[in-house]
Amino acid sequence: MHDFKYKNKELYCEGLKIADIARKASTPFYLYSYNTLLGHFRKLEKAFSALKPLICYSMKANSNLAILRALVKAGSGLDIVSGGELYKALLVGCDPKKIVYASVGKTEEEIRQAIAKQILFFNVESLSELELINRLACDLGVNASVALRINPDVEPKTHSYITTGKLTNKFGIDLDSAYDIFKNRAEFVHLKFSGLHMHIGSQIIDGAPYILAIKKIIGFIKKLKKEAIDIQYLNIGGGLGIIYSNEKPQTAEEFAGKILPLLKSTGLKIILEPGRFIAGPSGILVTKILYIKKTPLKNFIIVDAGMNDLIRPSLYGAHHDILSLRKAESGKRKAEKFDVVGPICESGDFLAKDRQMPELNEGDYLALMSAGSYGFSMASNYNCRLKPAEIMVKGNKFYTVRKRDSYLDLVKKDVIPEFLR
Ligand SMILES: *Cc1c(COP(=O)(O)O)cnc(C)c1O
Repeated sequence: MHDFKYKNKELYCEGLKIADIARKASTPFYLYSYNTLLGHFRKLEKAFSALKPLICYSMKANSNLAILRALVKAGSGLDIVSGGELYKALLVGCDPKKIVYASVGKTEEEIRQAIAKQILFFNVESLSELELINRLACDLGVNASVALRINPDVEPKTHSYITTGKLTNKFGIDLDSAYDIFKNRAEFVHLKFSGLHMHIGSQIIDGAPYILAIKKIIGFIKKLKKEAIDIQYLNIGGGLGIIYSNEKPQTAEEFAGKILPLLKSTGLKIILEPGRFIAGPSGILVTKILYIKKTPLKNFIIVDAGMNDLIRPSLYGAHHDILSLRKAESGKRKAEKFDVVGPICESGDFLAKDRQMPELNEGDYLALMSAGSYGFSMASNYNCRLKPAEIMVKGNKFYTVRKRDSYLDLVKKDVIPEFLR
């Protein structure tokens, strides 16, 4: 469910006609529905209410300050993966005790900053990292809390680029090594072993891989208990899938229904780290048709957004539904197929391939749906293109939550050295 709906053949976001925003703001831009964003956060909260978990929104999905602030105000914690994300998390007023930090490649500087802020815990991905956190905590004269990120070796049946819980992936620690670490925990004088973490991948539409992974981890917790090793937290990560075309992902309630009994049996405090589930359906990318071009072999719709704005189709072959802001009269799709492409000088620059499209004209506006996650957060300035604006709608009002880049933004960090002047 989301708040992007046709009324009288015009696509609306909450109470506003999107074409009106497009005319005022110029394209391309990301458009977020505040109501959809909060709605998805609440859905998860409600589905898991029996456990009162800490929900740490995974901010790499979309780290616009307005999005973060809205979620933090609603009670969300944050899952971070870099020093930059820690900076933004603190800027929007997130309680450090609601911040968890994963990443296989945390630097010394990043770890020091996070220890100094006393975040809830690090999700630790290797023995070397554990040793480093221990040493840095010692230097700073404090203790740091850690959860071991377990790699449960399960196949989540999603795109190979976004599986993270198989032993061939770079993430986490295998169960045997984790057990050895726990047995030797006394060596890590400055660490508190708070819990276990797993995150098995992204865009997972079925509960089975979670159940398998959680069962493996429950077995592991029992093994720890036998050694009188107690932990407080079980962090089951994110990865909940959303609808991009005709997937039938589990709802928050179905997901909770399947795993709540397992989670309850642990007696641990539960953490969830959803990113896409909360931000994905809440945003769209609005773009304008520049040209319609027919060649003897193919038809192209050339739009003013490209892979620098939304890289998911190029990177993962991802599908985004494309709607016209004004619904075609007949509503019928033409038999002809089109590639929807951007202006960038790469053949990989496409937003859709061989897509049946309704009757369209140059100058029409299109909306790429479910683009609120891994959209703007993966945008770049490739081809010296200006990163798009981000706009948030709440009710009958819209707010620019990030200005479009200017040409000055493209050059302000470059330096021409003296010898070239
Ligand atoms: C990316 C990531 C998430 C969020 O994944 P989604 O598929 O967006 O829910 C959660 N936890 C960790 C550790 C991640 O890296």
